[in-house]
Amino acid sequence: MKTHVKALVVGGGAIGTSIAYHLARAGWQDVMLLERDELTSGSTWHAAGLLPYFNMSYATTHIHDYSIKFYKTLEEETGLNAGFSVVGNLRMAQTDERMDEYMLYASTAETCGVPYEWMTPEQIKERWPLINTDDLKGAIYHPTDGYINPADVTMAMAKGARQRGVTIERKWQVDGYEWNGSAWLVTCTKMMDRGGNLVPTEEQIVITAEHVVTATGNHAQRTAQLLGIKIPAIPVEHQFIVTEPDPELVAYRENGGEEHPVIRDADAKWYVREERGGWILGPYELNAPARFEYGCPDSFRADLFPLDLDRIEEEYMSMIHRLPSSETVGLKDDFNGPICYTPDGNPLLGPAPGLRNMWLAEGFSFGITAAGGTGYYLAQMMVNGEAEIDMASLDPKRYGSWMTTEYAARKNEEAYEHVYILHHPDEERSACRPLKTAPAYDRQKALGAQFGAVNGWERPNYYAPEGFDDHAARSFRRGGWWQYAEQEAKAIRETAGLIDATAFAKLRVSGPGATAFLDWFTCNKLPKVGRINLTYALTSAGTTRTEYTIVREAEDSYYLVSAGAWQAYDHDYLRKAVEDKEAEFGRINVQDLTSQYGVFALAGPNARAILAELIRDADPETALSNKRFPWLSARDIELMMCPVKAIRVAYTGELGWELHHPIEMQNYLWDRLMAAGEKHGLKPVGARAQNWLRQEKSYRAFGTELGRDATPLEAGLNRFVDLDKDFYGKQAMLDTGIRAKCVTLLIDGPEGADPWGREALYAADGTRVGRLTSGGYSVHFEKSIGMGYVAPEHAEVGTQLKVKMFDQLFDAVVAEDSPYDPKNVTIRVDG
Ligand SMILES: Cc1cc2nc3c(=O)[nH]c(=O)nc-3n(C[C@H](O)[C@H](O)[C@H](O)COP(=O)(O)OP(=O)(O)OC[C@H]3O[C@@H](n4cnc5c(N)ncnc54)[C@H](O)[C@@H]3O)c2cc1C
Repeated sequence: MKTHVKALVVGGGAIGTSIAYHLARAGWQDVMLLERDELTSGSTWHAAGLLPYFNMSYATTHIHDYSIKFYKTLEEETGLNAGFSVVGNLRMAQTDERMDEYMLYASTAETCGVPYEWMTPEQIKERWPLINTDDLKGAIYHPTDGYINPADVTMAMAKGARQRGVTIERKWQVDGYEWNGSAWLVTCTKMMDRGGNLVPTEEQIVITAEHVVTATGNHAQRTAQLLGIKIPAIPVEHQFIVTEPDPELVAYRENGGEEHPVIRDADAKWYVREERGGWILGPYELNAPARFEYGCPDSFRADLFPLDLDRIEEEYMSMIHRLPSSETVGLKDDFNGPICYTPDGNPLLGPAPGLRNMWLAEGFSFGITAAGGTGYYLAQMMVNGEAEIDMASLDPKRYGSWMTTEYAARKNEEAYEHVYILHHPDEERSACRPLKTAPAYDRQKALGAQFGAVNGWERPNYYAPEGFDDHAARSFRRGGWWQYAEQEAKAIRETAGLIDATAFAKLRVSGPGATAFLDWFTCNKLPKVGRINLTYALTSAGTTRTEYTIVREAEDSYYLVSAGAWQAYDHDYLRKAVEDKEAEFGRINVQDLTSQYGVFALAGPNARAILAELIRDADPETALSNKRFPWLSARDIELMMCPVKAIRVAYTGELGWELHHPIEMQNYLWDRLMAAGEKHGLKPVGARAQNWLRQEKSYRAFGTELGRDATPLEAGLNRFVDLDKDFYGKQAMLDTGIRAKCVTLLIDGPEGADPWGREALYAADGTRVGRLTSGGYSVHFEKSIGMGYVAPEHAEVGTQLKVKMFDQLFDAVVAEDSPYDPKNVTIRVDG
């Protein structure tokens, strides 16, 4: 057996097998896959094999799309038929709101080129008469997908992998990982069957692998322990049942009736498909418990849990309602197996936190659907450095080290329950909250704050009157909260608003090597002492990896602020770069200050007057003037008894300061600001209004306009890129050229709705030219606004485009960058 390989894939389920196949296909010659038992003996063997396209995420839709296309090619390549039944996939709607959801999804699907059709209840009935359509509003139909045999598709990928030179070894369990500075030393134990159990033998080997990928399914907690990291992938019970043949279905098919598509009654929380004359029912019911929170027992092989029919009674009854012929049919078989979940339901795919050349592919709940695309895009990341799509939304580091087993288990149960809920874009999930609260949380709550969770932190989304129900206010159109966000946005434009931005990630980078390091790591000029800069760290492909606001506190000390949601993701990248460069540049200290400093953003025409009431200074009259405190500068000031690191920037594009303060003085500062602001019309403002306002200023946001699929030049950030210096990713950025351009659009949308930032963009002649990445409402222009990427020839100011919303095209025009106050007059105003 080989003991030195380029890449070792651990786990022979659908995911690991696809990764091994695609690494070989991408050109790596020395790839090995180890499986502790038999291929597919994890969750893969008992999956129902459905390939649901539907997913509200851009990255995941691409992954699913690749899989479906790839599986169709496998038979020709390997000679193995994976039983892909292209029966289509019919997603039904019982309510108008569900149709709204499908229309938003459809617009996202168009951005990825995924085909779909709309069907009326009458068309459904005519085509598949056994379906009761009485209470349906309609359906979205994907003609190109269906179901596949999970074990067969895995075996076909394994054969394809072997044909491409991959070594697959079964009955070898990975029991230890050690990084020697350039490769992983992986301790593996030979396993054997004894009395129906899988037991370790005395035989052990150590494999040296340059790269390791873990795809260990339900064993992710053991993998986490072996690696000394956290992986919030914990399985939840998932059942499906198989009925006896349904005589009406059998007769219908014998008479030439077309096979039913995979039917999804989302409002009833289940899927159904045909199986040998009967039906498979797969519910996503309430109260399915998490399992193996502290690790999957070694004795658990291709095992199942007992069926819990009571738990799925409601879904069973609703299947009978939808397919009345199933009422008298008995049960033939049942499956209740562990299905791996993560707190947000998306897999954990990408580099492991803190570790080199260690790649995680864990937490797959739709692993059969995702396997093909996962292998394809992960191989791109491993072989080329980056994938062609931005994989950040799936990155394992979207959960920080604050995450615990209890949090992961309860959130995973919630994610399971939410598979078929209405996926409102303004949804905030409630499990495990509140968890991370800044001191002013109670004060904000008393003022009516409705919170969202960012990286575990509670952050006000908007403020509403007492008794307001955020859940009932959610919508695919303008929800009940919209009017409050509008008032808040107006307050910032007309008087003043106070935004809690405590969730921001904050770092201090200092020491003799700090300046040279940051100069190399980021693309903009470093600021002078006391000044700030907006800058970007790039990927090896020259795309945007992190956005930083950098404050230079002293010659060799920098305060870095980045997006709160991406704290672990950003810090991991920076720390690894520091490790790599310290020998070259000199000592570099990195200190995480995130939970030491709270942040309030005070903005609006009256912001200076409010601060003037609180500032203590030898010359308070001039302390906040442009002369002493110009735009884009930072100063340590005293607001009564609170020491504040004040930064003159405002993400809303209005006169303003970010007030970074000791978190233990937050309530003191909040009270002083709110009291001083009263006569100046100060309003507490949430993240939704802020998101609208920043679009009026064309301020790009990380995770939407900014990501690993666009360079800063494509994002239109040329003024923050210093081409006179060398920085990481520069040449790749230049070589990439301009594939698409970031634009701001003013949109004449439908009555009572704004885009969400997922919609497809079309040219006036009806060709698809791009997609929105942000959307909202502009209080200044009194119409919808959005930002997005279009082909460069459509990016000229004044170009007329169309936005697809609710299955219709609406007029949009490319606005100049920063359509509100393009000369930054209000932000620079003196006083
Ligand atoms: C009842 C049910 C129905 C489902 N239906 C669908 C469906 O219709 N469509 C869909 O897309 N998904 C479905 N799923 C989900 C799907 O089964 C999983 O997402 C998918 O199988 C995950 O594949 P995987 O390769 O990540 O994990 P697994 O298939 O669990 O594979 C992990 C492998 O790693 C091995 N391993 C673990 N640790 C080690 C180690 N230390 N050393 C060596 N080997 C190790 C294990 O033995 C195992 O074989 C269903 C799941 C359930 C429970």
